[in-house]
Amino acid sequence: MTEFCPVLWPEEPTPEDQINCCKCGLDQHGSRMIWGEGNPEAPIMIILDNPGAREDREGNSIVCGTRQTLQKAAIEVGLTMEDLYVTFILKRRPVRAYEKEKTRQTCMMHLDQQLMAKKPELILCLGNVAVQSFFQDPEAEVKKLRGTIHQVQGYPTAVGYHPLAVRRRPNLWSTFAEDWKLVAEHYQNKLT
Ligand code: SF4
Repeated sequence: MTEFCPVLWPEEPTPEDQINCCKCGLDQHGSRMIWGEGNPEAPIMIILDNPGAREDREGNSIVCGTRQTLQKAAIEVGLTMEDLYVTFILKRRPVRAYEKEKTRQTCMMHLDQQLMAKKPELILCLGNVAVQSFFQDPEAEVKKLRGTIHQVQGYPTAVGYHPLAVRRRPNLWSTFAEDWKLVAEHYQNKLT
């Protein structure tokens, strides 16, 4: 059996007119802005809470645990990088305490811009933070919403656990894999 090997997906550059965004103050945390990665024209958009580590201490690019687990699930259900674009509620990685709700609401303007431009056929929100922000419901939870396709902001949307939660609790893997299977089946049915 071929062993799974995570790879670096190409990063979509942040648009020039957004690269110096300082609207919420997270720019003061010193982390760079990550617009998204994968195929910018992909039919399926994955929404995570915020970018994780992307470079090691020496500045070499790394595939963090979140992205490794995400890629593994995608491959298992037959999806490739060409099918997927990954982006975030917050485009910068917070490194200390911040006003969570206000910051997420502010940064969502970038996600709105991406949705308008990309018009994905299907969305997969991973983790409670992404789900609560995108569903605009502070009570929304993955465990209550997973297993079916919802219509959110006009987009067919599935939900799943955050890949980091799956890494910490390996017993969530089968549930995570089921959620990816739902996405793959929904997408493939649209193609036939
Ligand atoms: S997190 Fe979002 S809103 Fe805040 S400074 Fe960065 S890009 Fe702008």
